Amino acid sequence: MKQTSRTEQRFTGHPVSPGIGIGPVHETAEPALAIAHKKIAAADAAAEMSRLEEALARSRHQLGKLKARLAGLPEHSQTEIAPLIDAYLHMLGPSRLMRGIKARVEDGLTAAEAAVHAESEAQAEAILALTGSDRQGRVRRAEEVREIGRRILRNLTRQPFRSFAGLPQGCILAASDLRPADAALIQPANFAGIITEEGGADGHTAVMLRALGLPAVLGAAGVLSAAAPGSLAIIDGETGTIIINPSPSSLEAAQQKLAALTRTRRALIRLQRLPAATRDGTAVNLQANLELPFELPMIAQSGAHGIGLLRSEFIFMNREILPDEDTQSEIYRNIVDAMDGDPVTIRVLDWGSDKEIEALSAYLPLHDEPNPALGLRGIRLLLRHPSLLETQLAAILRAGAAGPVRIMLPMVSLAAEILATREIYDRVWKRLKRKGVRMAAQKPPLGIMVETPAAALAARQLARHADFFAIGTNDLTMYTLAADRGLPVGSKLYDPLEPAVLGLIGMTTRAAAEAGITVSLCGELASREQAAPLLLGLGIRQLSMHGNAIPRVKRAIRAVSQAQCDEMAAAALMAPDADAVREIIRDA
Ligand code: PEP
Ligand code: MG
Repeated sequence: MKQTSRTEQRFTGHPVSPGIGIGPVHETAEPALAIAHKKIAAADAAAEMSRLEEALARSRHQLGKLKARLAGLPEHSQTEIAPLIDAYLHMLGPSRLMRGIKARVEDGLTAAEAAVHAESEAQAEAILALTGSDRQGRVRRAEEVREIGRRILRNLTRQPFRSFAGLPQGCILAASDLRPADAALIQPANFAGIITEEGGADGHTAVMLRALGLPAVLGAAGVLSAAAPGSLAIIDGETGTIIINPSPSSLEAAQQKLAALTRTRRALIRLQRLPAATRDGTAVNLQANLELPFELPMIAQSGAHGIGLLRSEFIFMNREILPDEDTQSEIYRNIVDAMDGDPVTIRVLDWGSDKEIEALSAYLPLHDEPNPALGLRGIRLLLRHPSLLETQLAAILRAGAAGPVRIMLPMVSLAAEILATREIYDRVWKRLKRKGVRMAAQKPPLGIMVETPAAALAARQLARHADFFAIGTNDLTMYTLAADRGLPVGSKLYDPLEPAVLGLIGMTTRAAAEAGITVSLCGELASREQAAPLLLGLGIRQLSMHGNAIPRVKRAIRAVSQAQCDEMAAAALMAPDADAVREIIRDA
């Protein structure tokens, strides 16, 4: 029973897709699924299996049709959603899920509906129960499994899916929950925004809504009972605020914000085609960091000139066994292909204190090191287990046949680490050459992350052995200031703007310039637009950051001259602390 009123009411949910939506709220409900949990007789198993096969075929057919329908969506949405549909199709093939379901029917003599429900739930729960740092990835995979289970169930029971037909153009779509498959059916031009009472910011539904570019707020408890059908609502996909029955002043404020957002968006789109250069012509190469493959389409449209940091850890996470050379090579090749001739810098596995990788447990004899951040991490672990490094280097070299790649070593602090890696690298290159494996014509550059004070202080020596540098300010700050990067912001101990850190960045860029090698900066500092002029003053000409940040950083670079940047850097290096540096960059 709805308790609605005409006065303004505010709700907060997870902001999942930015933008302001204003329109009447209309609710859509998904018919409930009725599942009969019954057993079958052994003699009926074959008939039950053919019923299941028929539902699977229908599910495959629907997903095929859905994939074809993607052609009508903007290109970036297509590239985001298509891999998800492929993942669903894959699960409908000879997957662990299908084996489990069939075993429940054939051996457990369970009715197909009950088998699908029980197996997809069990596998989703098992995924969620895994440990490791990639919680977001686990939630997504569990959601995929449940989603495909529901689709098969609807086809088995012939119960209809949700329908969006008949909803008024320009309305705000409201639902208690939205499945990724529902989100894939939404025509973005028909709606002003989306709100739900359930669902989080990490799920596939959220990913899809972002891809569709619709303002969306998920998981706003209680919002449905407050909104009578057709009542006016405002949603702010950036703050997660929903206002039902807004007052005239709230409405006016939202309309102004919408107009301002539209202007900014248009200006950033225009910026995409303009070069990243200061007013007096210092060109800066802006690249993107890639942490998870689903970020790839967003990177493609961000205006990035390549991937400056591919954190390869995701390939090793959520697996019981380590990915072999073929598996890795295929993943790298797809990314290199997608970047269409722009370089991809692949960082070899950086296992460290803050990253848990189950499949690596056999390689971690010093698991209970007294201080894991100061122990066997990054390149140190790889050199302790050269087979890990050899497999990954071979996979990257093979992907190099598809386009330009660069190889980057994490957590280097000694020249000996580069030399030892080079020996292994040369050996792998020669072995693949001898076998006639397809690779790049030239051996790809081998560079290092500068993320320990030792690497920055010895940058001149290291530059003799490295083909390029990439400054990792996240770790460099942590190790320089002896302050964990996970410390709360308020603690003020961890701050990449501390002059000590800036000094090490300056030393590194000077050493790189003397040696004639390129140097980029790929820590989180790269995505702070206010810091961009300062970094240019410190000699940085290449930045790699989250793709979303590229337009704003470009705008900041285009607003200054190199002389201003140099002045700012000189003042910052002499400043007493990070707060004073903040004043300098703010006032510039
Ligand atoms: C860094 O340390 O700045 C960096 C880019 O590496 P990560 O954040 O993956 O440790
Ligand atoms: Mg690092």
